[in-house]
Amino acid sequence: MDFKKLLDCELFLFDMDGTLYLGDEIYDGAIELMEDLPRLGKKYIYLTNNSSRAGEDYITRLKKLGFPCEAENVFTSGMATGLFLRRTRPEARVFLVGTAAFRRELLSYGVNLVEENADTVVVGFDTELVYEKLDKACHFLRRGAAFIAANPDWVCPMPADEVLPDCGSICALLTASSGVEPFYIGKPNRAMVDEVSAMTGIDNSRICAVGDRLYTDIAVAQNAGAVSVLVMSGETDETILAAAERKPDYVLPSVKELHQALVNVE
Ligand SMILES: [Mg+2]
Repeated sequence: MDFKKLLDCELFLFDMDGTLYLGDEIYDGAIELMEDLPRLGKKYIYLTNNSSRAGEDYITRLKKLGFPCEAENVFTSGMATGLFLRRTRPEARVFLVGTAAFRRELLSYGVNLVEENADTVVVGFDTELVYEKLDKACHFLRRGAAFIAANPDWVCPMPADEVLPDCGSICALLTASSGVEPFYIGKPNRAMVDEVSAMTGIDNSRICAVGDRLYTDIAVAQNAGAVSVLVMSGETDETILAAAERKPDYVLPSVKELHQALVNVE
């Protein structure tokens, strides 16, 4: 395999579940790879579509699992939404359907959160959802408010084959009641890579996304003109891969082989 495109990348974006670990089971070689990246001259960011938790929650979780992680190494769809709002709609009056953690995150980007006369409705993976928020969001959307959603996922996978209704499902309810479709920020929307690129000053073509899902982790790279590595340690099997119209740049069994590819050219 010709790894030139991969080796030219300066920044690696890592999906977590199914890529570095599954639940509390850490994949072989995952921590070693993350610890070795700085020595190999590579930057890294843990990238997640989960907008129910703040970046700091991920730092705590990753450190507890044994992964190296500082503030600059985490990027969530909630953070992308905050940056997007600050850059494109700095004057927006935003009504939020989201958790207290997402609220804190948006406030840290200077987003103007309001309860009345909103011109923008922002929706996240709201695990603290109550009916009043849906009622208000529907009211603002029917009066012309912009509809921005942190992540398109219908469900959030849980252990034992369970799922939780995610941001996409909450948005479907609001679309049904208001007739307005949301603009989604998270993977596979290229906004997720574009915001990282704007933040780090690294061009999309030198960014590599690593993940186990074709329609989010790989699609976001392809949509943004970034490099993609599919690992077969999670959701995708050979049958799913064979059926894919657009193939990833690289397909590897796991992040352990990614580590080997990066080390072997030294
Ligand atoms: Mg995954």
